[in-house]
Amino acid sequence: LSFTAGQFVGDDLWVSVLDGDPRQYVDLDTAATSSASVAVAHAVQEFLPWYASVHRGAGIRSQLTSARYEGARDTMVRFVGGDPATHVALFPRNTTEALNLLAFRLDLTKDDVVVTTAVEHHANLLPWQRHARLRVVDVDEQGTFDVAAVEAALDQHPRPRVLAVTGGSNVTGWLPDLRGIAAAAHQRGVLVVVDGAQLVPHRPVDISALGVDVIAFSGHKMYAPFGAGALIAPRSLFTDGEPFLVGGGAVGAVSFDDVVWANGPDRDDAGSPNVIGVVALTASAQELSSDGWSSALAHEEHLLRALDSELASVPGLHRLGPVTGDRLPVATFNLEGVPHGLLAARLANEYAIGTRSGCFCAHPYMGRLLGLSEGEVGRFHADVRAGFRHRLPGAVRVSANRQTYLTDIPVLGQAL
Ligand code: PMP
Repeated sequence: LSFTAGQFVGDDLWVSVLDGDPRQYVDLDTAATSSASVAVAHAVQEFLPWYASVHRGAGIRSQLTSARYEGARDTMVRFVGGDPATHVALFPRNTTEALNLLAFRLDLTKDDVVVTTAVEHHANLLPWQRHARLRVVDVDEQGTFDVAAVEAALDQHPRPRVLAVTGGSNVTGWLPDLRGIAAAAHQRGVLVVVDGAQLVPHRPVDISALGVDVIAFSGHKMYAPFGAGALIAPRSLFTDGEPFLVGGGAVGAVSFDDVVWANGPDRDDAGSPNVIGVVALTASAQELSSDGWSSALAHEEHLLRALDSELASVPGLHRLGPVTGDRLPVATFNLEGVPHGLLAARLANEYAIGTRSGCFCAHPYMGRLLGLSEGEVGRFHADVRAGFRHRLPGAVRVSANRQTYLTDIPVLGQAL
């Protein structure tokens, strides 16, 4: 940041706003990315002077780095309640790469059906759309569905191979009944895959108790930096078959005509892995687990209630999705008569409040929530860049986490 645009005073960022004095920056965009925690920064700092190649060196530094990397697999499996004897952690870049990898590795064909839902982020739609046929559980006008709707989709013919569902919506914060959904899928022999990108940073997750087979999530949404995520899955899914990425490290033997793949997680680890990212990810997981969830949950709940009541008092503000019940700390809204991009820009430039506007990589869901047809959501996307419509197909999203303070929420209310 240049000095004129912004300045850190201690941990607080102050930014110059249009026609005004500097204001303390309020980051209400943590559903997209949350900045690194102190524990994560320390773990990386401690590791930086001595890391070396993973599985590619005989020296002591390489051995220690490799041990740290392999140990991280078990830490991450346990973090989400899995058993390292049966489950393995792979370290793709993020949730998107994790789900692409998984969809490839399941060896699906266009005759296979994957049941998914209208709530999904594109990361949990497009990999399945590419490799199989989608059967979509639709949502009501609140943007929710119940277990019976999932059962109905699972019972249609042909029987699906996979059920891919979000653990929590990045648009509305709505939390599907994962336990009920997983039980319904398992009764029918269907593999349960959860997009945990939003759920994992905000709730303790126990895949064994929930009955979830596979979960994917991203480090950068849980206080670690970009570039390391996790895919936790039964080991049996990755023992055979061709890996998603091919190259050094994924092989046992190579000739010009043939290849024998490595066994274990190495098969899915072609190329030098992002061990620093993985160290950061495990530090974040350890901090979240050891910190005790109850204070984090109470804090976020407190913030969400404050956000709910602040937003409820703004005239002309329309929330998307349910505004009662257990939800992740995120809120998405329109303000009547104000295009969402303009609103987000004004919040940033005049009030130093960071939000996100648009469709949040969830076009079908936004279409349902706003009552638009599929074509309209696509067209509006082009439209909004050029000008705006009286109907506001996008929205502004704000989200809170543990680094958000109760004092930040009224700032948003006043700005609106
Ligand atoms: N799923 C959900 C629910 C998300 O919120 C996001 C990020 N917005 C993703 C998947 C994709 O995460 P990433 O960009 O880290 O791959």
